[in-house]
Amino acid sequence: MRKHIVAGNWKMNNGLIQTETLISDLKQQVKTSDAEVMIAPAFTNLWHAFQSTRQDDIEVVAQNMHFAENGAYTGEVSPGMLKSIGVKTVILGHSERRAYYNETDESLAKKVDTALEHNMRIIFCFGEELADRKAGNEEAVVERQIKNALFHLGADAFKNIVLAYEPVWAIGTGETASPEQAQDMHAFIRKTLESTYGHTVADDMTILYGGSVKPGNAKEIFGKPDVDGGLIGGASLNAEDFYAIVNAF
Ligand code: PEP
Repeated sequence: MRKHIVAGNWKMNNGLIQTETLISDLKQQVKTSDAEVMIAPAFTNLWHAFQSTRQDDIEVVAQNMHFAENGAYTGEVSPGMLKSIGVKTVILGHSERRAYYNETDESLAKKVDTALEHNMRIIFCFGEELADRKAGNEEAVVERQIKNALFHLGADAFKNIVLAYEPVWAIGTGETASPEQAQDMHAFIRKTLESTYGHTVADDMTILYGGSVKPGNAKEIFGKPDVDGGLIGGASLNAEDFYAIVNAF
């Protein structure tokens, strides 16, 4: 079933004290929309964030994970480790991980498989670079990213997947895709899903938009019929701004 979701990706921001402060600020906010709220703190703060939000309508999710169960992967965190502290959802394929840590469609397909084996929900990120859009290749790039990482799955697996379209040129740049550009791409993504998996999978898929969403533009972007929520970077580090976006539905 399609849901409204607003997820805050805190990236490599906030130590323990700032995490506590931001969570306590978030708890002061009032949710007036039906959107599910998620926050993705750094690994070191996941356990604390999970404990602090136990009674609240906020899900704590991870920003990444390794595809292996355990082993000689210094510095990495496995799905089992995340699940052992109560984390049930993981962001995979963020453009910063693709750009700085060489994540590819192929390595992401492995991560997707492991996450699903652990019954974890995945927020799967993808999106074109500015050069792709300038060349008119944005749909081809997005189609390739989704198909390579996800289309080996059976239809049922998509119940545990949320898609996040994040044009790289709009992430952290202050430049947002226009509501029409977001809508056009989300409709294309739904059509791509439908052509392989049929109407129900496509219609039920929650597709988030990410890229410089702010309180001032969220309503217009979320007003588009195929935009089901947002993955929010910068604006998720301020509780008032984040809830202004949550309440934009
Ligand atoms: C992101 O990092 O997923 C993101 C969308 O960042 P920002 O909102 O800062 O553009």
